[in-house]
Amino acid sequence: MTLDGKTALVTGSTSGIGLGIACKLAEAGADVMLNGFGDVDAAIARVSGYGTRVLHHPADVSDAAQIEEMVSQTRRDLGSLDVLINNAGIQHVAPVEQFPVARWDSIIAINLSSVFHTMRLALPGMRERNWGRIINISSVHGLVASAQKAAYVAAKHGVIGLTKTVALETATTGITCNALCPGWVLTPLVQEQIDNKAREHGDAARATRELLMEKQPSLDFVTPEELGELTLFLCSDAGRQVRGAAWNIDGGWVAQ
Ligand code: NAD
Repeated sequence: MTLDGKTALVTGSTSGIGLGIACKLAEAGADVMLNGFGDVDAAIARVSGYGTRVLHHPADVSDAAQIEEMVSQTRRDLGSLDVLINNAGIQHVAPVEQFPVARWDSIIAINLSSVFHTMRLALPGMRERNWGRIINISSVHGLVASAQKAAYVAAKHGVIGLTKTVALETATTGITCNALCPGWVLTPLVQEQIDNKAREHGDAARATRELLMEKQPSLDFVTPEELGELTLFLCSDAGRQVRGAAWNIDGGWVAQ
C-alpha cells in the first residue's frame, strides 16, 4: 500500500502509539505533521528516517484555537490534510467521588473534544478532494469500563459515538471514519500505571504481569507498530468500506 503524495496529521505523536503510527504512515510515503510534547527532536528524527517531509506543531489539543492553527499550518505547509489520526490522550485513575474536577475537564477536552474539533476542521478539505481517512484512537475503554477511570471511559465511549456519526455523514463519499480500540500497549501512559502498582509491592516485573493477567488474555502487550499496520489497512483502497467501525486490538480483552 502506498500513501505517496498524501499528507497526515497525527495528534500526540511524540511518543507511544502516535509515534508508532506516524512512522508507519511515513514508511508508506505520507508527509507527516507531528504534534505533542516531550522529546520532539527525537520524534522528528525517527519519523524523518523514512524520507518524507516531517513537521511538528506544538498545539495543546485541549485548546480549540490551537487546534485550528495546527490544521491551518498542516494545509499551508504540507499542501493538504488527507489522513487524520486523533491519538492524543491522557488518563487519571481515581474513584468518581474523589475525581478532581479539573482532571475530568482536561481529559474530556484532550481525549474527546479535540476529536470533534480536528474532524470539524479537516472534513471540508477532504470533501473537496473526495478522499480522506480519519482514524480515532479510542480504547477497549470505549467498549467496556474499568473502575476508577470515569473520565477516560466516558471520553473513549464518546469517541466511538462521534466516529459513527461522522461515518454516517460521509457514507457516500471517499472519506472513511473509524476507531481503533487497543488493549494494553506498553507506552509511557501504561508505564505510569505499572510504576504505581510496583510502588505497592516493590516489584516491577510482578506489577507488569498482574496488569496483563487482570485484563489481557494474550498476556502480551499490543505494539504501536501493530496499530500502525491496522491504520495502513484502513487507509488503503481495500479498507474503503470499513465505515464507523470500532476495531478492538486487545489480546482478547473484550472477548471475556
Ligand atoms: P503516551 O503518553 O505515550 O502519548 C501521548 C501523546 O499525547 C504524547 O505525544 C503527548 O505529548 C501527547 N499529548 C498529551 N497531552 C496532549 C495535549 N494536551 N495536546 C497535544 N498532545 C498531547 O500515550 P499512549 O499510550 O501512546 O496513548 C496514545 C493514545 O492511545 C491515547 O489516546 C490513549 O488513550 C490511547 N490508548 C492507549 C493504550 C495503552 O495501553 N497505551 C490503550 C488504549 C488506548
